[in-house]
Amino acid sequence: GRGCQLTRPTPASARETPETGTVSLPSRQTLVPVSPESLARAAALLRRDEVCAFPTETVYGLGGSALSPAAIERIYALKGRPKYNPLIVHVADAQAAARLAGGWPAVAQQLADRFWPGPLTLVVPRGAAVPALVSAGRSTMALRVPAHPVALALLRTAGLPLAAPSANRSESVSPTTAAHVLSSLPAVPLILDGGPCPLGIESTVVDLTTVPPRLLRSGALPLRALLALLPDLELPPAAQSLGTGSAGSAAEQAALAAPGMMSRHYAPRAPLWLLAPGQTSLTPAQLAELPPPRGLLTYKPLPELAAHFHQVEQLAPDPQAFAADLYAALHRLDDSGVASIAALTPPPDLDWHAIADRLRRAASR
Ligand code: AMP
Ligand code: MG
Repeated sequence: GRGCQLTRPTPASARETPETGTVSLPSRQTLVPVSPESLARAAALLRRDEVCAFPTETVYGLGGSALSPAAIERIYALKGRPKYNPLIVHVADAQAAARLAGGWPAVAQQLADRFWPGPLTLVVPRGAAVPALVSAGRSTMALRVPAHPVALALLRTAGLPLAAPSANRSESVSPTTAAHVLSSLPAVPLILDGGPCPLGIESTVVDLTTVPPRLLRSGALPLRALLALLPDLELPPAAQSLGTGSAGSAAEQAALAAPGMMSRHYAPRAPLWLLAPGQTSLTPAQLAELPPPRGLLTYKPLPELAAHFHQVEQLAPDPQAFAADLYAALHRLDDSGVASIAALTPPPDLDWHAIADRLRRAASR
């Protein structure tokens, strides 16, 4: 709706307050609908090495020129992102990806042909034109062509590759609406509002610099489709994928190939606990661990459990529909003021792989 006018341009006559001297020049509106004008404003910011937030089909991104160390520094600073966590570079097409990369294997082109634009990120050697800062000092880089008309329009209008991690404070729940971005990162100069993100969880990340290729992060691209084209894809070791519940030291995290896999990530403010599938009531231990008021996140009705909960988010039983609403549901639970959240463990099925991964990380502490 029209509820996005946070700061409106002030007429020149109202700008001066010599009495107090406290009012500075008004900033322009932060959260704006997508239009040719707002796209041009965003592109101009990006060309000045500044940042802006924009929708992709996965989550909202905080973008800055991938060729500008100043812009990349700004992204890390705004997010409070640890400097060892590399950024994904977004480009308008596979040709642009191949040009930026320091090597473009045949399998990269095959995957690009099949899945781009789309929620698949490819890790390849980093090209000489790309600052090491983008990749947190690594000799590799991550590339993706997003399948969202606004992201593609912005990439084309700016004429730049855009480093764009999720537009939220590091470790918190990723934003799937422009309002989520504004509440997590109020200092972002411009947020293009393109509505809710259709897929709702981050891209799948595949490392093509190893033989066989390795899955670094399960994500919005169905694993089944990826395995059909990459049957030798190496899945993360069970221990890492299942998470041990300990976040590990910064050094341990830095050593991980994919920092998106650090255990504590994607977490709501309220502590989140996983319920075993088939659990029909809370154990005394869980009752003690889950301070009221409690929130419940589930994909099926749990009538016997419901009495323990003040706020219930029952999402669709289909994994893609569930993923699309997962982060928004976690934001709603947090906003409702619950002190703890219980989430039903997803079915042990390939189609729920990425969701199970996100919930385990949200639950780790
Ligand atoms: P985010 O931007 O928060 O979605 O996270 C980006 C994720 O992409 C990182 O956390 C890593 O998992 C992955 N990534 C980006 N660049 C690289 C790289 N050069 N090598 C390995 N993984 C990468
Ligand atoms: Mg993120």
